[in-house]
Amino acid sequence: MNEDYLSKDTIIAPISGLSGGSVHLIRISGTKAVEITSRFFSNSRFSRAEKNRFFYGQLVNEQNEPLDDVIVLLYRKPHSYTGEDVVEISCHGNILITEQIIELYLRQGCRLAQPGEFTKRAFMNGRIDLVQAESIASLISARSEKALKNAIQQLEGKFSLEIKEIKQDLIQSISLLELNLDFAEEDIEVIEDQQVLKLIDKIMNKIERYLNSYQQGKLLLNGVQVLITGKPNVGKSSLMNALLEKDRVLVSDIPGTTRDFVHDEIYLENVLVKFIDTAGIRISDDKLEKEGIKRAEKLFSDVDLILFLFDASQPLDDEDFYLIKKLKDFKEKVIFVGNKIDLNFLEENKQYLGERPLLKISAKNRTNIESIKNQIKKIIQKTDTQQVIISNERQYGLLKKAREELKRAKNTLTQKTGHEFVAMELREVVDLLSEITGEITNEDILNNIFANFCIGK
Ligand code: GDP
Ligand code: ZN
Repeated sequence: MNEDYLSKDTIIAPISGLSGGSVHLIRISGTKAVEITSRFFSNSRFSRAEKNRFFYGQLVNEQNEPLDDVIVLLYRKPHSYTGEDVVEISCHGNILITEQIIELYLRQGCRLAQPGEFTKRAFMNGRIDLVQAESIASLISARSEKALKNAIQQLEGKFSLEIKEIKQDLIQSISLLELNLDFAEEDIEVIEDQQVLKLIDKIMNKIERYLNSYQQGKLLLNGVQVLITGKPNVGKSSLMNALLEKDRVLVSDIPGTTRDFVHDEIYLENVLVKFIDTAGIRISDDKLEKEGIKRAEKLFSDVDLILFLFDASQPLDDEDFYLIKKLKDFKEKVIFVGNKIDLNFLEENKQYLGERPLLKISAKNRTNIESIKNQIKKIIQKTDTQQVIISNERQYGLLKKAREELKRAKNTLTQKTGHEFVAMELREVVDLLSEITGEITNEDILNNIFANFCIGK
């Protein structure tokens, strides 16, 4: 498919942010990029150049009026980002200059690049595979240093390489299985079932590891979400301020008003941590608001950690119990936080809390706030950037299907239904893996992926 891809249009877009910055960068990619530039660029050595180089000179318009002194970077195909001839113009960081240059190229027959179109062309021209293309999107949206490292690793092709190795293993066994079929009448086994089983197990282990990394990958990419919940007046806002190390009071709770959750962010160990306060929803009211409960429960399942806050100086009451019951289903990520220990800590409350961790704090005096941060750090430290980490939903979905197909192949093999069926199922796995890297794909999937990029990527 890659060879057939001929892009008719020469496309242009600014590739640096247009606000601020002393220099703006504009990229032009396609067959007309060099020709148009040579007509309006004063440096005559430019159009004769065959190697990747940069040139200094003046850019003018059709009336020979100067637009700007620029540096033009020339990338001859296929040694460019897109694999086509690429010209990048570095001009002064003024939006008017950038616009005038882009308009010149538009008048000369270029068109504006769509979001992700440069990267799409790079993929179509075989410069990068789909995993690498998607890692470029992750690179841009990464909210932590580890996520960034992971995206760079994927861009370098580590995951793609591992997928390729798995595919080679599979193809090898498929051809041996098929050879078996040819020799079946002569009763010669070219490959033992045992060998195939071993291989399937090995591959399943690898895929299982990728699948397990998904939670971590998402966490690194989007940050850790921590929910602070508890009945009114237990100190949620105070705790939020303490965690954020701010003095201002973020909210004054007005019962009954529906408004969005209050949230704010900090970085812990270079990972973004988002705190969400359920202040805006009334989940412990008498007139239990259905909508509020629904929203809260959605949050309970979405977040990575739930801090259930209660007033440790008072006996727990029905409002507390109501929430504790609601949180039962999310037990493994709940931490109980007894607040206001400067007033008192009632031991009797402990019996209702089960075996989850219990922290004792005073939000007002900022006592023991570190203990909460340590719990969050525990979640972050589980991530291991030495291994490939999956953070992409599409890739995750395909890996899940591959695992199912492998399970099926294993069953077929142990039930001795026939090697041809095992081979067929393993072929299915190969196809799924090829979809991950983009050797097998379709236009809809591609458009969907690249539409999520921003202009200029
Ligand atoms: P929220 O409704 O859960 O957000 O609770 P707030 O943070 O608005 O606090 C309710 C009241 O409890 C305020 O008067 C706070 O000053 C007080 N408060 C919060 N944390 C503590 C604490 O650790 N000790 C004491 N003594 N009072 C606190
Ligand atoms: Zn509050």
